[in-house]
Amino acid sequence: MPELPEVETIRRGLEKVLPGRKISKVDVRYSGSIKMPTVSKFTAKLPGRRVIKIGRRGKYLQIFLDNESVLVIHLRMTGKLIFSFTPLTIDKHTHVIFTFSDHSVLYFNDIRKFGTIYWLPIKRMYEIKGLACLGPEPFSPEFCPGYMAEKLAKKKTTIKAVLLNQEFVAGLGNIYVDEALFRAQIHPQRAAASLTQKEMAALYRAICEVLQEAINCRGTTMSDYRDATGAYGGFQQLLRVYRRSGKACLVCGYPIERIIVAGRGTHYCPNCQK
Ligand SMILES: [Zn+2]
Repeated sequence: MPELPEVETIRRGLEKVLPGRKISKVDVRYSGSIKMPTVSKFTAKLPGRRVIKIGRRGKYLQIFLDNESVLVIHLRMTGKLIFSFTPLTIDKHTHVIFTFSDHSVLYFNDIRKFGTIYWLPIKRMYEIKGLACLGPEPFSPEFCPGYMAEKLAKKKTTIKAVLLNQEFVAGLGNIYVDEALFRAQIHPQRAAASLTQKEMAALYRAICEVLQEAINCRGTTMSDYRDATGAYGGFQQLLRVYRRSGKACLVCGYPIERIIVAGRGTHYCPNCQK
């Protein structure tokens, strides 16, 4: 599933090509992808709208349009947005096609069909529940060791479960949570409330570092992820624990283990992470 670095990479790719383009035609081939409004309104009313800018909040992409409205897209498991200056061959996984007035095209492809698209006035964005209850962005001043200390003290779950919770911090998923906990040398099953000040500071640094490095690498491609131009990410070569179970820890040589925490496959070094 695309996490913050992948969605941010897609945002940056779209920001280079979409602003100024005017939608001339919308073709919805799988109606389940459109959550709001109705498909008939979506296809009838979007043509004529011009793209202003591309935003991101957590794992949500936001395509702002010229009439104070916004297309909000969540890629979930396998959603992809591919932009092309000329039409591409489509297949059964192409669910929505946005054609622009200069014949360039934005494709929404989604093998698992969990991805969602909303179109609504900016002032009604709060109606998207998952978006409305998002916690702070990891790179915002609001997210800091002080915030972590205040929130973690009240939590009764594992630190991994808290980091995966989008209401605590927006944009983290399974890959970057495992990587951040490894860098901070914190065991994923630790009770969130048991972290010391020093550990929270280390975890805060690790989260920001791992996300920034992954953005610099244009994200992680494990299977499906591609950016807006169809290119792979590069961070998979720099993963230290994620999907490395049985391989030697890059710090101490001990085999990386895989367990289930918060319902998710979790990779960690039993020797380095306490
Ligand atoms: Zn180790």
